[in-house]
Amino acid sequence: MLAVTILGNNSALPAYDRHPTSQVVTLDDNLFLVDCGEGTQQQLAKYRIRWSRINYIFISHLHGDHYFGLPGFLHSMGLLHREHELHLFAPAPLKQILDLQLEAANNSLPYQLHFYPLEDVGAGGVLVHNDRFKVTCFATKHRIPCWGFRFDQVRAPRRVNPEKAIEDFEKAIEIAPAEPHLYQLRLQANQVTLSGCSTGLNVIAPGDELIGLVRGCLSAGAPSLVVSLWAVDDEATAQLMADMYTRLRAGDTPAAALRAAQRRALEEHQHPFFWAPFAVFGRW
Ligand SMILES: [Zn+2]
Repeated sequence: MLAVTILGNNSALPAYDRHPTSQVVTLDDNLFLVDCGEGTQQQLAKYRIRWSRINYIFISHLHGDHYFGLPGFLHSMGLLHREHELHLFAPAPLKQILDLQLEAANNSLPYQLHFYPLEDVGAGGVLVHNDRFKVTCFATKHRIPCWGFRFDQVRAPRRVNPEKAIEDFEKAIEIAPAEPHLYQLRLQANQVTLSGCSTGLNVIAPGDELIGLVRGCLSAGAPSLVVSLWAVDDEATAQLMADMYTRLRAGDTPAAALRAAQRRALEEHQHPFFWAPFAVFGRW
């Protein structure tokens, strides 16, 4: 299957409901990101495109509306513990820009980023050619050096080697994660409640990012989240949750439902340990 998802096609200045240039080319199970303007991460989330499946990025030229979203995107993939390598094809000066930003932030990426300057590409413009696809580039006319990209599907003759097929299958089973990463889930719920102990606590990642279940659930699409800030009491929490959900079902907002449940808990336990461990994040 070949598909193109336009994430943005606006130029530099902001415009209502328009986004700077970026698109995702889908070729079977391969995803290619072409250009990465500001807000690309948000657009990928909106279109529910899994970042982890993007292994190739192509930047056409270095006008900011085509790549200002890239440093943040590369950094976010690191925060999400990406480990597999990423291939970046772009005009040569982008390497210096990315290196300087990482150096200034005293940061490094936890995955291997292979950078290929488009200026170095030989005759024929072949960037990648394997048994599934071929990507070539060609020069285009613009005020600064600029390239276009062509994606071709490679249809290899179907010759099945049974031994190799079994080997591949076993390898796939071995590396398949037992559960999908929370940040890659697509939660459909209106509200997520994590009523266990300390579910709202975070760790501080490089760049002062707070990483935890709150960020994960919001990133996965939960608009509203109720989490605990310390280890909670089993019985008091069970009652609190029952009261909160009764109010939610009656039509209260998450914050109003939690507040009503807390007031009721307060009648039984005066100490905040029992009635105040939960907080609402997101839409309240
Ligand atoms: Zn331009």
